[in-house]
Amino acid sequence: MLPPQPAAAQDKTLNLYSARHYPSDEILYDTFTKVTGIKINRVDSDDAGIVARLRAEGSASPADVVLLVDAARMAAADAQGMFRPIQSAKLDAAIPPELRAARTAEGVTWTGFSTRARVIVYDPLRVKAEDVATYEQLADPKLKGLLCTRSGSHPYNLSLFATVIERLGDEKGQAWLNGLVANMARAPKGGDTDQIRAVASGECGVALTNTYYMARLVKSDKPEDRRVVERVRVVFPNQATTGTHVNIAGAAVARHTKNLGAAVQFMEFLSSPFAQTYFADGNNEYPAARGVKIDNPALKAFGGESFKADTIPLAVVAKNLTKVQQMLDRAGYK
Ligand code: FE
Repeated sequence: MLPPQPAAAQDKTLNLYSARHYPSDEILYDTFTKVTGIKINRVDSDDAGIVARLRAEGSASPADVVLLVDAARMAAADAQGMFRPIQSAKLDAAIPPELRAARTAEGVTWTGFSTRARVIVYDPLRVKAEDVATYEQLADPKLKGLLCTRSGSHPYNLSLFATVIERLGDEKGQAWLNGLVANMARAPKGGDTDQIRAVASGECGVALTNTYYMARLVKSDKPEDRRVVERVRVVFPNQATTGTHVNIAGAAVARHTKNLGAAVQFMEFLSSPFAQTYFADGNNEYPAARGVKIDNPALKAFGGESFKADTIPLAVVAKNLTKVQQMLDRAGYK
């Protein structure tokens, strides 16, 4: 517990622009208020809505902390100057460096507070597990006519592609994207859950999804969702090589905050073991902080309780974002 706060802190309010909306987040924010005396005024929108609002408000924005989902979105907002770099020894100690923005002399802009893995889902009747053990294999002609994904330029895919291409280099990376396009069962459409359902229905043989979408289906008691879960298999890719790609839900201090101290305090609170558990559980994710473990049967159901995660810095997503979009255009990846 923190010591009692001085009276002045009692009327403080923190403006949180959040793209995350889970019931368990409420407990988090209430606890922060109890411990610090700082009230939280939440502005809820989706990721695009929050970025649009920050852009429209400019230097008049009352935002103190911004919560967004996926490193690609964090990087895009960061590139538009929406975040203020901060220095925090507590955050540095709690969160592994690969889960945050590149450090500059001024500090670090965005930090991840939960992680999700991008996994392969396949139809065991049409595809062998050993043919989908890696992201690289998704471009193998063996999988011709079987692959389904959501839009290539969706942040979840942009982030994954940015890390794969960082390792492959531009030439092999372009060939890999071309190979993915050549293997498509249909033009990219829908969200991650739609890809899982399309594998279960037989329209697709193999697809990509974030782990929490699979966990939601596992937790569902609808008969049609039960059938989907029983029908598909999940692979954590690249276990023998680089590890499975993980991404983040994260936060940053808003560029024009007038409450820098409280904003940093909130970020540090999010990295505490108590907050980490709630933050991860709210969306069937994994804690980002070192040494914090969760026990989620819905993740266990498909082997997601432990796996080797890729530790390539997510800062490479920021570096490669524009290039990957151009490479997708060249590949004709919609
Ligand atoms: Fe999502």
